[in-house]
Amino acid sequence: MFDLPDWTFEFHGHHCPFMPIGFRMGTLAMENLGVGRSLNHEMHVFSEMGIGHPQGCMQDGIMSATGATFGKGMIEKLNYGKVAAAFWYPGKPDAIRISLKNEFQDKLSPHEFFRYRRQGVEPSEVPDEVKRDIIDIVLNASDEELFNITILQGFEYSPVKGSFSKAKCESCGEYVFERYLRVKDEKRVCIPCSGRTVEEQVVHLPNVSMP
Ligand SMILES: [Zn+2]
Ligand SMILES: [Zn+2]
Repeated sequence: MFDLPDWTFEFHGHHCPFMPIGFRMGTLAMENLGVGRSLNHEMHVFSEMGIGHPQGCMQDGIMSATGATFGKGMIEKLNYGKVAAAFWYPGKPDAIRISLKNEFQDKLSPHEFFRYRRQGVEPSEVPDEVKRDIIDIVLNASDEELFNITILQGFEYSPVKGSFSKAKCESCGEYVFERYLRVKDEKRVCIPCSGRTVEEQVVHLPNVSMP
């Protein structure tokens, strides 16, 4: 059985099947790339998950395993609404994409855990034995049962360079890191004061052919 550290559940907040799936996905990504957990700003993760589906819990597992955390700016969401993520590591020629197999998603979905969830019961309120059973299914599955792996050959990514430069918004007076200053009426202002929306760099993953 896969050995999942207890602190991951404490960090995540509840016991559910998707955080462990994410932890296993992150672990498999590190094994395939031949790297360890990122202490600083090494691995970058492009999560294909979106909002409004419970599989998003996976991202806490991915962060826990890889150390590529939201706070360190190393995980981005692509909002494709797919249970998959791509993993890029500096100095490695290729990135890899790992997705949760349809067959495994189909195997999990009739489980009692999801009957509770569909009735609006939050994971912390689902009976412990039901949660233990579905988590054991995840931890006892083989990597092959769980995941598809695709090599993203020559996938290029340039992380944003860190900078400590900041200036005061000439409208509200609050400090803003320089790349977020916008010009409005010849003043350098923050994004809310500019009335504009945020345009962030977005990575587009290539189409994935059927395995
Ligand atoms: Zn969860
Ligand atoms: Zn402002």
